[in-house]
Amino acid sequence: MGKLKTLLEDIYISYELLSSHDRRAALINEMQLLEGKTIHCFTCPGTCCTGQANSMQITPIEALEILKGLEADSFSEDDREKLKNTLKNTVAKYRLNVEIYTGKRNSQTLRKNYTCPFFNNGSLGCGLSRSSKPYGCLGFNPKQEKDNGQSCSSNLDLLSEREKKFKTTEDMANQEISRQFNLPWDKQNIPQALLDIMDRLYT
Ligand code: SF4
Ligand code: SF4
Repeated sequence: MGKLKTLLEDIYISYELLSSHDRRAALINEMQLLEGKTIHCFTCPGTCCTGQANSMQITPIEALEILKGLEADSFSEDDREKLKNTLKNTVAKYRLNVEIYTGKRNSQTLRKNYTCPFFNNGSLGCGLSRSSKPYGCLGFNPKQEKDNGQSCSSNLDLLSEREKKFKTTEDMANQEISRQFNLPWDKQNIPQALLDIMDRLYT
């Protein structure tokens, strides 16, 4: 069994964490309900995935689940390097590894916009499976037909319901992943998060 698969299975069992799909089920169902009403992203240029509006950040467990969804354990050395180069190019292009502090009080850093490395232009859209997509991406949807990003928004009720339901187990899983990999962040932009995990997982 690959390193990532073994690690994730240990975490699911140790912390009684539901699967990647089951923890996202309510968000996936909502997206499918909207699609049933022809409210979908298929004609949108991907406003929320590009540098125009995307600043998505993910937790350690979300990063592991993206890599699992991509089947990173089965990648050849070349494929792994190819993905790492794509991620590194995004980090460099948008200076995602350079922190900008917004104020001394809370030591908060500015969330920078970037075009997601998994975004495919046009109707192809997101290259990740729904079962491994960040929660925030699943919860952000159009509200009307052929909206093309004009009035899309996050379903905050559904997102906070999901978070509340899995908070305890996800917090424990995230702490364990951070401890094992010595990660210096709780949330990170997608490309930097994946690079940090890959560098530590596939040495
Ligand atoms: S993971 Fe998918 S939905 Fe989320 S920002 Fe990237 S391309 Fe868009
Ligand atoms: S959620 Fe909105 S902005 Fe994002 S791809 Fe879909 S229609 Fe476009």
